[in-house]
Amino acid sequence: MDERKLKKLLLDFHGPGGRYSYFPSQHDWAENFESPEAKASWNSKVQANIVRTPSSPLKIDLYIHIPFCEQLCTFCGCNIAVTKDHQVERPYIDLLLRELDYDLERLGPLTLNSLYLGGGTPNFLSAENVDYLLSGIFSRAMPTPDFYGSVELDPRRPASEFLHALAKHNIKRFFVGIQDLDNQTMTNVNRPQNLLVLEKAIHDITKIENHFLSGDLIYGLPLQTQDQLVSGINQLSALPFHAMSFYPLAQAFWQKQHQVAFGQISANSPETMIQLFLRGDAALKENNFQALGFGHYFREQHPDAKVLLENRGSRNVSGFSPVLTPNLLGLGVGAISTFPNLYWQNQRILEQYKRQIGGNVGYPERAHLRSDIDCFFGNLFERIVCQKIIPQPLIEEASAKYTPAERFVHHELLAQLLENKILTADDNNIQVSELGIYFLKSICQAFDPYFLGRQN
Ligand code: SF4
Repeated sequence: MDERKLKKLLLDFHGPGGRYSYFPSQHDWAENFESPEAKASWNSKVQANIVRTPSSPLKIDLYIHIPFCEQLCTFCGCNIAVTKDHQVERPYIDLLLRELDYDLERLGPLTLNSLYLGGGTPNFLSAENVDYLLSGIFSRAMPTPDFYGSVELDPRRPASEFLHALAKHNIKRFFVGIQDLDNQTMTNVNRPQNLLVLEKAIHDITKIENHFLSGDLIYGLPLQTQDQLVSGINQLSALPFHAMSFYPLAQAFWQKQHQVAFGQISANSPETMIQLFLRGDAALKENNFQALGFGHYFREQHPDAKVLLENRGSRNVSGFSPVLTPNLLGLGVGAISTFPNLYWQNQRILEQYKRQIGGNVGYPERAHLRSDIDCFFGNLFERIVCQKIIPQPLIEEASAKYTPAERFVHHELLAQLLENKILTADDNNIQVSELGIYFLKSICQAFDPYFLGRQN
């Protein structure tokens, strides 16, 4: 498809919405903890709604949130605590381990299919402290034989010893925060960073045997130009990355205050954002990255990438991975846990998080008990995003679950997607086309009963 047509389609389908890495999104979570009864019954609700086989440990994926950053990047939308005081490390790690103990009491024995250290800045921790954390985790929950571990890294922080501490625990998938290579653009968002620093971090990572290396880029940063973005992608592509994430700048309303305070900010129009996206997307493809959807790009050479590009992978809040369980346990301030019947998000303020994990009176920030309909559509979205194909009987089953008004909107949206060849259909399946990879959010919305209900 030529670029003009694609640009028009992206503009036509442009609009707000989530990333469908879990369903329903927090906007539609129904549990609250206003009443004393809701607070008191939380623990038993967890025990009653997490399904396990009594004779064997529950296999889970573990997410651990390290909120600390030494400096605030003014574009950041993560749950962070800015501090240069590294005395905070041990007490926080002890809280994480206490939370895991608390979960082991409620859930029984666990084994780890995977572990993801996210932030904030996981490499804010010293090598010694990350080793202490991981030793504590693995002494409580054993890894499975196929275990794999992932970590987000800030390339500006010294890496070598930290990386070896991770590799010792089989954590070898590295997600490096780059954002942009232009010095002025990065300084303006309070994150001075340059290619030399990045190359040093990557040099250290590539010494780790069997590593997987991914970079995070942002488009739409103030001062960023199309040419500069493309030039950055071309320079980065000469480095041994297996994957790239390419996300739009998010401008949550609460961020604007500090964005104005620290640097120049210019709100981009949807046209400018789409133009930046198209240039960046084309540059990534020219450098052998293939799009998987929702801003994720992979190079085929790595075995993990091959699984994902053949539409055989899975996805959760931490992104795409070759194999995930349905059980994601999140540890740490603000971390999200997604189990088939129950979702919750830990308290997002550190002091409240401490109270949450302090014992039986603790309760999370918010939660959602999933209905059969939530589970059905959650599985449908996983199929759309990961397998890129929906069998016709499932589409009929979905249609039967809508109210007449929702079904009317669903049919209209589906017709638009088919007409624009974002989806293709035959007697047996509806399939996401190559073009459809750019429109996964719109495809999911066309099936999402909460979204459809709000269109009337
Ligand atoms: S280092 Fe990462 S998490 Fe921390 S403020 Fe910057 S972008 Fe946000």
